[in-house]
Amino acid sequence: MKIKKEQDGGRLIAHLQGPLENSFDFERAIGPVKGDLVLACSGVPRINSEGVKAWIQYFESLKKKGTHFSFIECSPAVVQQISAISNFACGGNVISIQVPYVCTKCRHESVVLFETADLKKSGNSVPDAACPKCGGQSVFDDIEEEFFAFLKRS
Ligand SMILES: [Zn+2]
Repeated sequence: MKIKKEQDGGRLIAHLQGPLENSFDFERAIGPVKGDLVLACSGVPRINSEGVKAWIQYFESLKKKGTHFSFIECSPAVVQQISAISNFACGGNVISIQVPYVCTKCRHESVVLFETADLKKSGNSVPDAACPKCGGQSVFDDIEEEFFAFLKRS
């Protein structure tokens, strides 16, 4: 995994890029955080159990330091962990998530970005979308109760 950092006023935006497949030193990669930390997670295709440990260890320590952090553009792999592991977000706010879709016509797989607040209002379900490849009907491609489980907890 690589992390690209960007200072945006009073907050630090960290773009996570690549799979989180082994122990990863977030502390070193992100460095000192002044103000709030925003994690942009669209570039994370996979997380394994070692990665989960490194993630939780880092964010639990941030929480103890009193740093505010939130997650935006969470890839389906990140959302699956947030939903499956109750303390994965470590108290951070999940602002927006990428929802997996598959086209009923050409089977093309894509993602659609949703704000978590909007999903809560719509009762944790998502509308069909147009396939970006053929324009056909693209539908949600996961198990609703599992994928959106975190929404019911927060
Ligand atoms: Zn299609």
